[in-house]
Amino acid sequence: MIIVCPSCLAKNRVPEEKIEAQPSCGQCHQPLIPLAPIDLNEQNFSQFITHSDLPILIDLWAEWCGPCKMMAPHFSAVAKQNPRVIFAKINTEESPRLSSAFHVRSIPTLVLMNKTNEIARISGALRSSELQQWLDQHLNV
Ligand SMILES: [Zn+2]
Repeated sequence: MIIVCPSCLAKNRVPEEKIEAQPSCGQCHQPLIPLAPIDLNEQNFSQFITHSDLPILIDLWAEWCGPCKMMAPHFSAVAKQNPRVIFAKINTEESPRLSSAFHVRSIPTLVLMNKTNEIARISGALRSSELQQWLDQHLNV
């Protein structure tokens, strides 16, 4: 499987069975799957979604958004439990072109992607149990 390093964007080939063994980047030695949300922006977004063989769950958020802040610890908690999904955050104010490409109408919006295909999306803050349930539902396709 190809995993894109969140620190240096190098493409790493990781055997399927090593995904859950906390692989690190061959180039910069940082964790490839940090089990915490990574930041995506207009510079690194396309490299990530085009090359990553793992599904990516994106949280589109903003600094001024109360429900976004409320959901943040839940999003991090669920990231820790799901080594086979990349959790990413996009700050809609810092990446306005990305957020308009996603046609974001309200935040927080969660978008689940597999490469460049959108699998599902949901708007509004979710608690960790609801988030995990929603994720399971859409990953079991
Ligand atoms: Zn790296």
